[in-house]
Parts: sequence; structure tokens; C-alpha cells
Amino acid sequence: METNNYQLGSIVQMKKTHPCGSDKWEIIRTGIDIKIKCCGCGRCVLIPRIEFNKKIKKIISE
Ligand SMILES: [Zn+2]
Repeated sequence: METNNYQLGSIVQMKKTHPCGSDKWEIIRTGIDIKIKCCGCGRCVLIPRIEFNKKIKKIISE
């Protein structure tokens, strides 16, 4: 799928829903690892880019 179009501040939808009920995340840091913040509860998660590319469903806003 067409990934890699995300950037800092992008809102992305993940395949898996967070326990809080939100599946939308904001990208707050990019690099080898991607840091994303849950739009529902504000929790931050750091995941490897490769892993992130597999888990991303779509980019909501760039
Ligand atoms: Zn959450």
C-alpha cells in the first residue's frame, strides 16, 4: 500500500484499535522509529518504522 506519505503532524488510522477506543494517531516524531500519540487518550507510543508501515491503515490528514 502507499505508505510513507505521512509526516510530522499527520493523523493516521491504524489497523488495530487502541484500548481507549480510538484508532487515530498523530505523528509527533519521525525517523528510524515513529512516535505516535493516540488522539483518544493522548498516550504516546514509539514503534519502529517498518512495524509502523505494517500497522498503518490510512492517512487521514497530511
Ligand atoms: Zn488511546
